[in-house]
Amino acid sequence: MRSVRPAAPQLAGLEPYDPKYLPACALLSANENPRDVGEKLRREIMREVVRVPLNRYPDPLANDLRDLIAEANGLSREQVLVGNGGDELLFDVALAWGGPGRTFLNLPPTFSVYEANARLTGTAVVSMPRRADFSIDEEAVLARLAEGDVDYLVITSPNNPTGALAREEFVLSVLDATDALVVVDEAYFEFSRRTVRPYLAQHENLAVLRTFSKAFSLAGVRMGYLLAGERVVRELAKVRQPYSVDAVSQAVARVVYENRAEFEPGIQSVIEERARVVEGLRAIPGVTPFPSDANYVLFRMEDASSVWEALYARGVLVRDFSRARYLEGCLRASIGTPEENDAFLRALREVAMGKCDVRVPSARTTERADAAEARAD
Ligand code: PMP
Repeated sequence: MRSVRPAAPQLAGLEPYDPKYLPACALLSANENPRDVGEKLRREIMREVVRVPLNRYPDPLANDLRDLIAEANGLSREQVLVGNGGDELLFDVALAWGGPGRTFLNLPPTFSVYEANARLTGTAVVSMPRRADFSIDEEAVLARLAEGDVDYLVITSPNNPTGALAREEFVLSVLDATDALVVVDEAYFEFSRRTVRPYLAQHENLAVLRTFSKAFSLAGVRMGYLLAGERVVRELAKVRQPYSVDAVSQAVARVVYENRAEFEPGIQSVIEERARVVEGLRAIPGVTPFPSDANYVLFRMEDASSVWEALYARGVLVRDFSRARYLEGCLRASIGTPEENDAFLRALREVAMGKCDVRVPSARTTERADAAEARAD
């Protein structure tokens, strides 16, 4: 054969995931923790990792880690599922609650992976865009849910990339209004210090998604977890890849989770720096930051795409959403170390004050700029 038949039709129009990573002095594009795991903890991780039998398959469900997470959350092992990053668990949700003839309710602009997963699994997508200030149109969502055909939805709290928490009263109304699976994505909850986890006891249709990638500095390891009722966890366990969470990642995550108090000063610093960055942005003429409960800030300004270029030319990488639907003119900056945040604010001030020509030679290919339109995460 000289040719291959087309892939499944639902792939048409989808773009492969591209975080648009580029080398830079201040990496503020991916909402990572600016501080890597400390030396002492690293040594403990190494001690644990060298003991891992590499010739044996890992425990498929990572029960030791499950037990640690369950205990910390006042739950049983059967109410916890771990995955290869939150991303895998989101895909599992689409496989288990979506599919042909089923419906996903999306609240854009939000994490683009939800909609991509729905499309990949042949799930119908109902979009209920947020208002201009990125708040959820709560009444419209509740009215739409009352129609009864939605099988699952994701409420991202804090929302990525816009930054604000969903109102707790709204989440409760949704849980009462529908028997759809309601995933509350709390990937950034350590920076908001707010969670809907206590409602798991009363609501069988609630699932809470968390990750080790942000507060726990483990974006490179790929570890996420989901808290839910036993029935939901059992269904998700049916579709998950049996060995997706490898033995080394399980060992690393166990050590990190047992020592999670060590990340507290870093989290506190991000929260304090967030307030300083928002204030700094507000003081720059023409820049409108949106309130954030997470470890990033979205802001809008004129000529945002050129501003992105000018920031990058100054060694600062932020995320360009300027051509993404609902996010026109917006850039998102992760909160970094105080030095990185200073570098970001200084560079943006220079650019905004017109002290430099924003039309610097392009760091991006046209393809990259076009891709900014396709995916927003
Ligand atoms: N949910 C949200 C809202 C996110 O922003 C991310 C990461 N960008 C994830 C889930 C998935 O994180 P991970 O796969 O690294 O655990």
